[in-house]
Amino acid sequence: MKNNEIEHVNDYNLLPYNTLRIESVAQDVYIPANTDEFALLLANLDNPLIIGRGSNLLLSSSGIKRPVILTKNLNKVSVNSPYIEAQAGVQTPKLAQMALELKLTGFEFLSCLPATIGGAVCMNAGATGQSISDTFLCAEIYDSNEDKIKEFSAEDMKFSYRNSICKNQDRFYLLSAKFKLKEASTFDEIQKLMDENINKRKSSQPDLKEPNIGCVFKNPTVNGEKHSAGKLLDECGLKSSPVGGAMVYHNHANFIINFNNATSFDYLSLMKKMQDCVFDKFNIRLEPEIIYIGDDKKELELWKEISQK
Ligand SMILES: Cc1cc2nc3c(=O)[nH]c(=O)nc-3n(C[C@H](O)[C@H](O)[C@H](O)COP(=O)(O)OP(=O)(O)OC[C@H]3O[C@@H](n4cnc5c(N)ncnc54)[C@H](O)[C@@H]3O)c2cc1C
Repeated sequence: MKNNEIEHVNDYNLLPYNTLRIESVAQDVYIPANTDEFALLLANLDNPLIIGRGSNLLLSSSGIKRPVILTKNLNKVSVNSPYIEAQAGVQTPKLAQMALELKLTGFEFLSCLPATIGGAVCMNAGATGQSISDTFLCAEIYDSNEDKIKEFSAEDMKFSYRNSICKNQDRFYLLSAKFKLKEASTFDEIQKLMDENINKRKSSQPDLKEPNIGCVFKNPTVNGEKHSAGKLLDECGLKSSPVGGAMVYHNHANFIINFNNATSFDYLSLMKKMQDCVFDKFNIRLEPEIIYIGDDKKELELWKEISQK
């Protein structure tokens, strides 16, 4: 690489960069200071893994051999109301707060996500009737096949339920994104929606004191009918079921928490148990929402079984 000034760490424990708090040592971790350094890394590294907050990632306890890029320093935001532009590493609660102060609606759900904007766009994150694709206008995307930065429209991003073009391929990486929000009538209207989001979660979902990576499975649609994955799992009696140090959350069956030094294998084994129970009882195959990263043979076999369509 031409620039050898970019922060680079060997054998780095990614425990602080995944909200499940799995001990996972990465061989090579790069921490770009700005989007130029990020683009330079993308041009030079082979199949890098990008980590925002790691709030959707199951990292292998056996470690990560792929080069890892942490986007935590890419945190510039520019505002020209009702437009907000944010670099990949901006934390979503910060954006929600900024939108509130500008009396703009559309980002309320982001206040509860322990995420970065890169991860939220990549996953098309959403909650309580809002999703990132609703306000998305365009993004600066690095295309590693053509080694070029391109501007992608919402159409180019191919958003669908918890999905985008960045999630499906190891080719497109988000440098920054621009959003168009709507002027709200009152600050209270925005605050009320944020509070509703927070209260709903408090009563049913684990916070990060009980380490987790959000919903394990997507809500399935069968013959046009939408189902709640949490409800199906609950009806299988899975709440509080443990495997090793991983356990189905006692108050919401679509969350797995790390209650006692869980390994990625514990998590995957519990996932498989949950998926099998729902399939046996309802003949519905749940699809994972979380993403497994690793190349441990036993884990990959399990993940292949879990994620096959
Ligand atoms: C307590 C809790 C509650 C949650 N609630 C919700 C919810 O209500 N709705 C919801 O949708 N999700 C929810 N999640 C899941 C998670 O927060 C979202 O998927 C979030 O968008 C992930 O953001 P992140 O920055 O942590 O991404 P990461 O987990 O770091 O990465 C996710 C994916 O995005 C890729 N990625 C990250 N940055 C970039 C980039 N710059 N360019 C290209 N690819 C990139 C990663 O490589 C990976 O494939 C929750 C998680 C937790 C722990």
